[in-house]
Amino acid sequence: MSTNQKILIVDDEKMNIMSLAQFLKPHYDIIVATDGVTALEAAVKHIPDIILLDILMPDMSGFEVLIKLKNAAETMNIPVIFITGLNNATDEEKGLSLGAVDYITKPFNQTIVKARIKAQLKMAHYIKTIEKLCMLDALTGLPNRRGFDTRIEAEWGRAFREKKPLGLIMLDIDNFKIYNDTYGHPQGDNLLQAIAEILNRTLNRSCDIAVRWGGEEFCILLPDTDLTGTYNIAEQIRTNVMETAVTCPTGKSPNLTVSLGACSKIPGENDLVTDYISEVDKLMYAAKKRGKNNTCTPEDNK
Ligand code: GH3
Ligand code: MG
Ligand code: MG
Repeated sequence: MSTNQKILIVDDEKMNIMSLAQFLKPHYDIIVATDGVTALEAAVKHIPDIILLDILMPDMSGFEVLIKLKNAAETMNIPVIFITGLNNATDEEKGLSLGAVDYITKPFNQTIVKARIKAQLKMAHYIKTIEKLCMLDALTGLPNRRGFDTRIEAEWGRAFREKKPLGLIMLDIDNFKIYNDTYGHPQGDNLLQAIAEILNRTLNRSCDIAVRWGGEEFCILLPDTDLTGTYNIAEQIRTNVMETAVTCPTGKSPNLTVSLGACSKIPGENDLVTDYISEVDKLMYAAKKRGKNNTCTPEDNK
């Protein structure tokens, strides 16, 4: 499979496509479309790294194509450069205000087009990297709350559409304040990293997602998992935490425990994901109330 970046060229004139493709081909994988509808289909199918878009096309103009691209979650972040014969300021202003990243008029200079594509691809790469970093917790390497919000929204939507259960676990370390006070904050950080490793080790399906939800609270999202399955994973995590020795600089490996809330739900039309999260959070607190080091489910909490 090619690892080249992909460019989608959209123009109703085949000659225009060829003149662009001819000098871009050695550097990129080229996909072409000669009308708006095909361009939108190709954008969703291939998720190109950049789109070069003509404006004047029969049926659907480049402006309309851009509006549709920006309105669809899958394609909204793909950078679009207009390459057009329309060389007046009003059209250029319109193109840029609709969300194009650049506007190049025909006839174009190949070297300049190449340089401007390269600059936009670099920018898109930086944006993607920053977005990824914003969704990661620096201490544990797990997704953070922001990352979780994106994932749970997507999984909740999928579970609703497919009428499948979505398992959710909330985990909180027991007596972590005392641990920090006794062994020091840096050792507390080591413990948080050890919990993250246990979660990664315990979850073996690639669709399962462990997240650092807050300070010493973690969250586990289990697509297509019923209550029994979710409870079993929670108990496995709890056992693995008890059996893992996290050694302190003093040489001691203090006993560690966690409390968990576990639930599973097929989302209904009027259900809110935020209500689901608080329901599981309440179950975790019920586990604390019951004496810590246990998993509480809706069955226990009736
Ligand atoms: P409980 O058993 O009821 O959960 O009590 P607890 O002591 O674990 O909970 P509490 O909410 O009282 O304390 C949470 C502690 O977590 C306090 C805070 O210092 C610690 N904490 C939160 N984030 C971090 C972190 O990033 N690193 C370290 N080392 N400690 C953290
Ligand atoms: Mg705690
Ligand atoms: Mg807490």
